[in-house]
Amino acid sequence: MSADGLTPEKIIETRKTLNRLIKNAMKKARHKECMLCGKKGGFCDSHTIPKFCLKNIVWNGKLNSFNTLIDSKLLSNDSGISNAGIFHIICKECDGSAFQDYEKAEAYETCPTEKMLNQIALKTALRDIYKHEIEVKLFEESMLEMKEKSPVWSLFANIIFDAQISARKLDVQECYEIYDISKSFLTTSESWIKVISYDRLNYTCPIAFQGMVPLVTGLDGEIINDNFNYNLDYKTEYLHVAVFPLKDATAVILFVNSKSTRYMKFEERITRMTQEQRLEIINRIIFLYTEDYYLSKQLDDETIKGLQEPARLLQDPFTINPKRSTRNAVKDYDLRRDICIPNLFLKEYSVKAEEK
Ligand SMILES: [Zn+2]
Repeated sequence: MSADGLTPEKIIETRKTLNRLIKNAMKKARHKECMLCGKKGGFCDSHTIPKFCLKNIVWNGKLNSFNTLIDSKLLSNDSGISNAGIFHIICKECDGSAFQDYEKAEAYETCPTEKMLNQIALKTALRDIYKHEIEVKLFEESMLEMKEKSPVWSLFANIIFDAQISARKLDVQECYEIYDISKSFLTTSESWIKVISYDRLNYTCPIAFQGMVPLVTGLDGEIINDNFNYNLDYKTEYLHVAVFPLKDATAVILFVNSKSTRYMKFEERITRMTQEQRLEIINRIIFLYTEDYYLSKQLDDETIKGLQEPARLLQDPFTINPKRSTRNAVKDYDLRRDICIPNLFLKEYSVKAEEK
């Protein structure tokens, strides 16, 4: 969100309006019952990325986020550990019991179990449902507000928000599918997951991330998810990515639904690479596609500057823009393209946990 050209007074005013709209959207998107047990009432602060991971990269109680990179004057630029990536959609009991396997450091000594990966997918889906449902309401609220201003604004509002609202609704629907499948596998020993890679480094990288990415293209320019395919049967296939900074180590995991067919070529290429090449690609995937990562405040200005370009280039793969095409999207998301993004998985960027 850009504040270019705004006076300080206008920034304060816009920030106030934005806060009010976000607050209203959150209120309207609020669930009535826990998404796991169905109990009515109180939700707790659920962390997407486990707190024990964030603790390994925190500095003075703070972390950098996507907003630091885009240098938004309208949104808060850093996060405290207690509010980094939290959502309110499940109760305290469920939050404390359903994710126990993946939320402990010892679990990453060896390749994570499918049970852990299922829990990661479920937590990610819950966070994304929460996030996208609020976004839908936020766009709806903003559209209403604009329409109330005048008929001219009303026309603009339709152009600006209609595509965004439909795209977000589709995101929500797809998140529910992942939520349904991972919730149904919570208590069985069977699995729907296929691990693509697990890398464990013996130092702490300055980044934490957990999310699912709809890769547009793989490593040979092949199309994985065609965002311009409007066939109702066409489903997005997601790549699940987790980067967990540990004490003196980092765990980096890629996995997919074992029924996904469109990642076969990508998998073949990425598993044959050296670990350094693979991690460079994973680093690119995170910065070219996502915004839910947390970074250590120990990163220097030059590195932050290097990460700003991809953050600013970040385009929503699901924004429907008639001028764009599959071919352009493949170009925009080419993982091999000539763009310099600091590879935070290199040892030179490693960090030490804050002394207490
Ligand atoms: Zn519950």
